Amino acid sequence: MKNIVLFGAPGVGKGTHANILAEKYDLLHLSTGDMLRAEIEAATPLGQRVKAAMERGDLVGDDVVIGLVDKALSSTEQGVILDGFPRTVQQAQALDFLFKRHNRRMNCVISIDAPREELVRRIHERAIISGRADDANDDTIRHRLEEYDAKTKPVTDYYKVSGLLVCIDGSGEINQTSMRLCKVVDTVVRKNNF
Ligand code: ADP
Repeated sequence: MKNIVLFGAPGVGKGTHANILAEKYDLLHLSTGDMLRAEIEAATPLGQRVKAAMERGDLVGDDVVIGLVDKALSSTEQGVILDGFPRTVQQAQALDFLFKRHNRRMNCVISIDAPREELVRRIHERAIISGRADDANDDTIRHRLEEYDAKTKPVTDYYKVSGLLVCIDGSGEINQTSMRLCKVVDTVVRKNNF
């Protein structure tokens, strides 16, 4: 069973590539952003609690997202591709704990990198179709990138230490990045004898 984390800044294409990889390697795509938006859409108490933070571009509380991921992992035996989680070192530590409890092993953490101006350009482009309030406002976009620098980027050090981190260039066309990602996953699959 493969378990992969797709890591990267807002707008880098985690969602797009997680979808492609999920289809190709038969993985369940778990996006904490999608889970949170579904809670808001359904106007659940949790959704009502996180709405304002998401609209401001703040990260949502660790306990909330850890709870959502725990619930998702409890309801499947399938390998997973995590998109948008972990986003803090505390979430990364919690994920180690959750994987142990659910008898899963992390195979790799793939960080997709792209220049800042490319991220902003892609978020502006996405805003037209996503309808997401946090994609449509320049201050919110800036704040999300600041949150990424301050709280999420340090997660790469966490995975560097454990030797799980692979960084790839995500600045070009979707299919170029996709080919790089598949190469990484194929190498990991071969090495781990899945
Ligand atoms: P993007 O990566 O483009 O910013 P996401 O859908 O992954 O889009 O996340 C949108 C928002 O959802 C984030 O700005 C944050 O408010 C919230 N969010 C998603 N995942 C997490 C997480 N793991 N921890 C905290 N907040 C999260």
